[in-house]
Amino acid sequence: TTEQNVLFTIFGGTGDLAKRKLYPSLYRLYKKGFLKEHFAVIGTARREWTNDYYREIIKETISDLVISEETATEFASHFYYQSHNVNDAEHYVNLKKLAEELDDSYQINGNRLFYLAMSPNFFGTITQQLNQQGLVSTNGFNRLIIEKPFGHDYESASILNEQLREVFDENQIFRIDHYLGKEMVQNISTVRFANNMIESMWNNRYIDNIQITLSESLGVEERGGYYDKSGALRDMVQNHILQIVSLLAMEPPAKLTDIDIRNEKIKALRAVRLFNPEEVKENFVRAQYDVGTNNDSLLNKYQNELNVAEDSQTETFVAGKVLIDTFRWKGVPFYIRTGKRMAEKGTQINVVFKNVPLNLFSEDVEEELPPNVLTIFIQPTEGFSLQLNTKKAGIGLETETFDLKHIHSAETVANSPEAYEKLLFDCLNGDATNFTHWDEVASSWKFVDVIRNEWDQNKTDLTSYPSGSMGPTESDDLLAKDGFSWYWNP
Ligand code: NAD
Repeated sequence: TTEQNVLFTIFGGTGDLAKRKLYPSLYRLYKKGFLKEHFAVIGTARREWTNDYYREIIKETISDLVISEETATEFASHFYYQSHNVNDAEHYVNLKKLAEELDDSYQINGNRLFYLAMSPNFFGTITQQLNQQGLVSTNGFNRLIIEKPFGHDYESASILNEQLREVFDENQIFRIDHYLGKEMVQNISTVRFANNMIESMWNNRYIDNIQITLSESLGVEERGGYYDKSGALRDMVQNHILQIVSLLAMEPPAKLTDIDIRNEKIKALRAVRLFNPEEVKENFVRAQYDVGTNNDSLLNKYQNELNVAEDSQTETFVAGKVLIDTFRWKGVPFYIRTGKRMAEKGTQINVVFKNVPLNLFSEDVEEELPPNVLTIFIQPTEGFSLQLNTKKAGIGLETETFDLKHIHSAETVANSPEAYEKLLFDCLNGDATNFTHWDEVASSWKFVDVIRNEWDQNKTDLTSYPSGSMGPTESDDLLAKDGFSWYWNP
């Protein structure tokens, strides 16, 4: 472990994300020795806090991780608070002064990491001011981490990107998609490229279809105000789901470097077929949760949620078919679905292999055996399973289907670093593999915009599903039309 010299400036330092994710992750990096003596953190937000109060908050956020009061105090002593309104140029002058003092006293040598943990509306202003007021250092690295959402369509994303690019180069911008920090998302490339048995079959000759499900059992909870303007397509498909698609679909990179991997992901996303309005209707369904039950508790409908319009047409569920026009994937549908208030919380990928040509185990040779299915469990369960057909013990040749399964133990899951810890670590090392490149964001928005535009014009096709179910029947029909069905059916 080598210590990193770095000054963090966290915009939105009093916010939920900073408290729940960033401070505990910084502490874990500290405990492992990646942060030691030569680091400091400036937390900034509108509230008037003192350094002492800020440090008390920091200690609270790490209270279930610390070994001793002493270490907690020592860690928290690296934190400084500066009250700041991001729209006020004057405040950046104070911020600069503090940054220079800390750089000096902690001997940081100019390495700066700016974390924008606040509303994207402010990203443009903040980066411009960082530049104009001279907060960007001239002798070390300057890196910018930004949170989602990156725009709400291609155009707004482009504008935002141009603003950022006036100050930071593409290789200094780290766009967070926290799914890319998840253990099992990172495992996709290992399981593909470290196993000839899998990689040699990873194409349209052997794979029938691929299914990706990101389901949540909760509703919008307190996020109604934000969510009602966004919807599942923008909130989940544009980023997390298309990122998973690109990792599954990309060609093997020449090397496991950020440049090579992201180039392959970009190529895969560019090959995703853009639909015309007619194809959107055929290939995508949207729905909103209605009343329902889960575990005997009665659940209300989306339109009755806090801060949601009574006549809201926002989708809380999306299912769709993604087609990738490459030699490898021609003819293999990638079915995706995501929603709130579904029967079970979970993210999983099911790779459904083609059947054997003939069923020797049935009187009717045309009768389909259950397919081989490779499942990658992403969360909350982490692991793999492979569905196989075998002989049932006993007389005769009856077949039986079972799963070869490897699920990470609760201990492994508990001890594996949290997504934000891994992403912060990568950024400190200048490794952008698990951050989204602008070209990936651009292609994803172009795909999503076509669907969004069609939906905005045809308000009639929004359907509903009972809370606590796996979505509307239209989602099942989407696969049934092609002779398939959802493999995961809790
Ligand atoms: P939050 O509302 O809890 O925090 C916002 C922060 O911004 C606060 O510290 C507030 O003081 C500060 N702020 C607001 N206006 C300001 C101004 N004019 N000047 C200075 N400071 C100002 O939000 P959050 O949940 O922490 O989310 C922050 C960002 O992270 C958002 O972009 C959000 O979309 C993204 N995000 C959050 C989560 C999460 O789990 N909370 C997950 C994914 C993405």
